[in-house]
Amino acid sequence: MNEYYDLLGVSRDASQDDIKKAFRRLARDTHPDANPDDPEAEAKFRKIAEAYEVLSDPQRRAAYDRGDTFVGQDLFSTFGGLDDILRQFFGGAGGFGGFGNVRTGPARGADVAVRVRLTLAEAAAGLSKEIEFRAADQCSVCAGSGAEPGHSPVTCSTCGGRGQVQARRDTFLGSMMTVAPCTACRGAGTIIENPCSECRGAGLVEGARSVTVEIPPGVDDGTRLRLTGRGGAGNPGAPAGDLYVEVRVTADERFERLGDDLKHVAYIGIAEATLGTSLTIPLIDGGDEELDVPAGTQPGTVFRIGNGGMPRLRRRGRGDLFVEMVVNVPEKLSAEEEDALRKFAEVRGEHPADRKRRRRRRGR
Ligand SMILES: [Zn+2]
Ligand SMILES: [Zn+2]
Repeated sequence: MNEYYDLLGVSRDASQDDIKKAFRRLARDTHPDANPDDPEAEAKFRKIAEAYEVLSDPQRRAAYDRGDTFVGQDLFSTFGGLDDILRQFFGGAGGFGGFGNVRTGPARGADVAVRVRLTLAEAAAGLSKEIEFRAADQCSVCAGSGAEPGHSPVTCSTCGGRGQVQARRDTFLGSMMTVAPCTACRGAGTIIENPCSECRGAGLVEGARSVTVEIPPGVDDGTRLRLTGRGGAGNPGAPAGDLYVEVRVTADERFERLGDDLKHVAYIGIAEATLGTSLTIPLIDGGDEELDVPAGTQPGTVFRIGNGGMPRLRRRGRGDLFVEMVVNVPEKLSAEEEDALRKFAEVRGEHPADRKRRRRRRGR
């Protein structure tokens, strides 16, 4: 397990300072911007940056020394990415270009976001929904080339078709060659002298589209689904953008959603709470369930109906349905009801306000 040390050309007991120095020296020599003719440069440089990323962090270095390996997402996280490592070493955006900043060749299509509104029941069941939106399509007149039929884009004379230009740049590490997108052709490598009249040279025209989206059961308000390659068309040879479907779930008056669980409020009378009752509770999937409310149920008691909640998104199982009891205390009583209740109070030994006083208070 000496590969990282070998890559940086340091010994296993090298100090953090030695490692930093070694990386700085290697990064300058191997950075892809400094080696525009070497197609392997980026891969080589990434390997070195990976070695530095691990060995410059004492905890990761210790783990590496013990024989742990690091893959993919573990890497480049402490600094927020490779570009950030480079920025630390080479200054802000004015220094090295980093990767991804040099855009050459045909441009990828634009991402498109659309919003769909679902009821809570639809969110629980999942559904396929046809959505309509506008996005760029390849221009049918010029087949995306941007040139008027009968004409072709010509090679950019500024960059010779490479889409990028080299420039010498002075940094604190000394003078070095950097690469920037060609401004004449904006990185495309070609220039359109006779633009297509339909798309005015863009190669793309916006049009209406419809796509059927499979919305999985359990989506929540704010869930975003990504449909790769279903967004705007790119330039010829470049991939289309992605379509993002943002789900909005409208409130349901019967249920409050708490993650995967649902809450339903059931109203019962004082006699029902006291003597017990049976309730029919609605379920989100359209059915219902009998709930046995025992005698002596107190206000605020919550009953649980297992698996009566929302399906767990892209997992098995579902949440529970919680049913909260609200006991309705009558605000108005008929003479007959009042007689019955006063009789009950008398037997219980309770001392309710007398009739006159109660009327006064209610009439206030
Ligand atoms: Zn066109
Ligand atoms: Zn150019």
